[in-house]
Amino acid sequence: MKKIFSCILAIIILGAMLSGCSNNDSKEMIKKAKNFSIPHEVSINPTKEDYGILAYNFLHYIQDNYPGRIAGTEKEKEMAVFILSALLNGGYSEKDISIQSFNITEAVPMMDESIKNKFEGGKQSNSSQNIKVVKKGESEKTIVVGAHYDSAGTHGVDDNGSGIAVALENALRMADTQTHYTICYIFFGSEENGMCGSREYVETLSEKEREDIVLMINIDSVLAGDYHYLYGGNVNEHGKVDRAEAVVKAYDIAKKLGLAIQLPPEGNIDYPYPTGQKRSDHAPFNDIGIPYIYFEANNWENGSPIETEKHGLIMHTDKDDLDFIENEYGERAKNTLTDYSTLLYSLLQENDWEQEYK
Ligand SMILES: [Zn+2]
Repeated sequence: MKKIFSCILAIIILGAMLSGCSNNDSKEMIKKAKNFSIPHEVSINPTKEDYGILAYNFLHYIQDNYPGRIAGTEKEKEMAVFILSALLNGGYSEKDISIQSFNITEAVPMMDESIKNKFEGGKQSNSSQNIKVVKKGESEKTIVVGAHYDSAGTHGVDDNGSGIAVALENALRMADTQTHYTICYIFFGSEENGMCGSREYVETLSEKEREDIVLMINIDSVLAGDYHYLYGGNVNEHGKVDRAEAVVKAYDIAKKLGLAIQLPPEGNIDYPYPTGQKRSDHAPFNDIGIPYIYFEANNWENGSPIETEKHGLIMHTDKDDLDFIENEYGERAKNTLTDYSTLLYSLLQENDWEQEYK
C-alpha cells in the first residue's frame, strides 16, 4: 500500500516537473516571438479580396529561412516562433494563443533517398509543439483549421509551408471578421513521423471540446501538384464511404466560386481514392467521427498519388523548393495558393455545418 502511495507521489511529482518544464518552454517561445522583428512583406494585413498574396509572401519567407525543420529540431522550434510572432503581429493576443508541448513518440523515419541535399535543422530533441489560436465566433461550435509545419528535411514549401501559409493568412484575415463558428487554428508539430502533433491534440481534447468540433479542415501540400483536390469521407466497416456530406458541400461551393478545385477522379463520391488513407493530420479527427475536408494538390489520374506528371513527387524530394517549382511551373504555385485561400474563406462563412453534417 505504502509502495503504491509513494509510486503515485512519484508520478505526481514527475508530472508536475514535466508540465512545469513545458510551461517554461512555452513562455520562452512567446518571449522570443514578441522579440522577433517580423519583416514588412509578411506583416501586411490581408483584406477580404487579396486571397493568396500574403500566403505567397509567407511561403517565400519560409523558403529562405526555415529549411530542414524536421520534427524536434531547433529549426522546427524556430518555425513555431515565427508562426507565433505572425499571429501576435496580426491581431491576436497572448490570451488567444496556447502552445501544447508533447513528446515525439515515433522515431523520425529515414528520409527518402530522393532527398540528396537534406537540411539538418540543428540539434534534435524528442519534444515538439502544437500552436493553437482561437478566433471566437457567435457560437461555441468550432471549426478546426489545421496544417503541419515540420518538414521532411527539404525546404518544405510544398509539404507543408503551403498549408501553413494558407492557414496563417486566413487566421490574420479572420481576426476581425465576424463568424458564426469559433475557428480554432492549429499549427501541428511533428506530422511527418506518425502525425504525433494531431494525435496528441485529439487525444487531449475534453469531452466538451470534442463535441463542439463540427468540422476539421486539413491543409497539407497545396502548391505543386497538377490538380487541386478536396478529400473527405470515411470508409466504414462495410467498405462504404460515409460522412462525405461536408466534402461534397465544399466541392459545390468551389464550383460556384468558379475555382478549378475537384474531387478525386471519376467524381468518385462512392469511393474516392484517398478516403480512408491515414496520410495526414485529418486522420485522428476522422477516427473519432469528426467530418473533415482535406485540401491537397496532387495527381490521382492513374489511381495513385504521383503529384506531377512531369516530375513525379515534389514532396519529400529535393524538388520541394520554391525556386525549382517556379522555374518549372511559372505561376502555378501562386495560383494554387490563391484558389485554396479563396475557398477556405468561403467555407468559414457558412453557418450550417453541424445541422446537416454531424
Ligand atoms: Zn505533409
